[in-house]
Amino acid sequence: MTPEHGEPTGRVTPALGRAAHTAQPVTGTRLDPWIGAYADRTHGMRASEIRALFAVANRPEVVSLAGGMPNLDGLPMEAIAESTYQLLLKRGTTALQYGSGQGDETLREQIVEVMRLQGIQAHPDDVVVTTGSQQALDLVVRLFIDPGDVIVAEAPSYVGALGVFRAYQADVVHVPLDEHGLVPEALEETLTRLAAEGRAVKLLYTVPNFHNPAGVTLSQERRPRVLEIARRHGVLVLEDDPYGLLGFDGDPLPAMRSMDDVGVVYLGSFSKTFAPGYRVGWAVAPHYIREKLVLASESSILCPSNASQLAISTYLAHHDWRHQIKLYREMYRARRDAMVGALEEHIPEATWTVPEGGFYTWVRLPHGLDAQAMLPRAITALVAYVSGTAFYADGQGSDHMRLSFCYPTPERIREGVRRLAGVVQEETELVRIFGTGGHRDEDGVTSAGPEIH
Ligand code: PMP
Repeated sequence: MTPEHGEPTGRVTPALGRAAHTAQPVTGTRLDPWIGAYADRTHGMRASEIRALFAVANRPEVVSLAGGMPNLDGLPMEAIAESTYQLLLKRGTTALQYGSGQGDETLREQIVEVMRLQGIQAHPDDVVVTTGSQQALDLVVRLFIDPGDVIVAEAPSYVGALGVFRAYQADVVHVPLDEHGLVPEALEETLTRLAAEGRAVKLLYTVPNFHNPAGVTLSQERRPRVLEIARRHGVLVLEDDPYGLLGFDGDPLPAMRSMDDVGVVYLGSFSKTFAPGYRVGWAVAPHYIREKLVLASESSILCPSNASQLAISTYLAHHDWRHQIKLYREMYRARRDAMVGALEEHIPEATWTVPEGGFYTWVRLPHGLDAQAMLPRAITALVAYVSGTAFYADGQGSDHMRLSFCYPTPERIREGVRRLAGVVQEETELVRIFGTGGHRDEDGVTSAGPEIH
């Protein structure tokens, strides 16, 4: 209501456009007076299932197998504090000043060095430093997606990427994964079908290493095949790789970007290999895309934080970061083993992926159980997970859950899985008595996903 309609004027009423016609009375009410003013692109925005969980999952009595927070206990805090102190003392006026939109040059050189471990030959000019790789995701999607454009994404996909895709009103089409990652034949078939329908596919979004949430890795043999298919269909590949250096056995596989420097935008991050709090990630892109990325980033943040960039640059220069990554890998491997061992012991009737790196395993529930419906009961039993539905754009996934093993200790992981087993048993009993609680697609087929022990 507007003042002309007799509404008391205790505040400024939106005077123009749709807002003026549809604004609700405000003073003393909880209704959003700006409800009619939001842009269309906000309609798809909603809190992720993970965020909604955080409030309860973070209570100390709950074992949270939900969040993807890295465990930072092993970081040499005193040494980092000392070098940060020295940085501010010696270069404080630079560290606390605005910086370049593309990012600090020395850090970009160091990022090139880090990426060599995955076979990427890039020039520091190809790198754009961002506020976490999440911002890089946002920028790439902003550059390429008009409302209704198609993004082909793995089924399941990283929930934070799906949020960005929704915000830009992309149409997400899922392509299945199996234990070797994205299935090339399914990709070929999907791109051919979309082309026949005349739909504009702009991006292929993939997390090839230690997938979030599926825990699987795109095999070496499939990488060039996926690239060849994308190239033939004129689709840009968005390779999101925050976990690539966190493999538990052997050397990392070559990044897709190491095989194609024209058709791939690569995203990296220090969040999992060092610490997420500095919020430093990066994109590597062909120069024409890179220039636009810098312009888009400048228009949203002017420049990434100089203080964060120089702190990371100092860490890389003065600490044995390779050793730190090795420690992380050992820590996460022990936690993966605890998770998989506990699943075998307590919920053998489920199936799950055994990740070779990263933070997550993807569990398929037995007996038609519904992970989303079961969650309140799990929280009551003091264990939290993320329902598989968070990782699909189209409501699939209720027969899966993502279990994170990154943050809790192995003892807590085992306790969490033990509690979860109790919930699964209760639910199974309820399903037995009352019929299936499982979500089914229209054709009666439960949603698919990788299902490997
Ligand atoms: N991509 C994937 C697959 C992730 O799992 C995450 C964080 N969970 C991100 C991107 C964003 O990470 P950050 O912004 O901290 O670099």
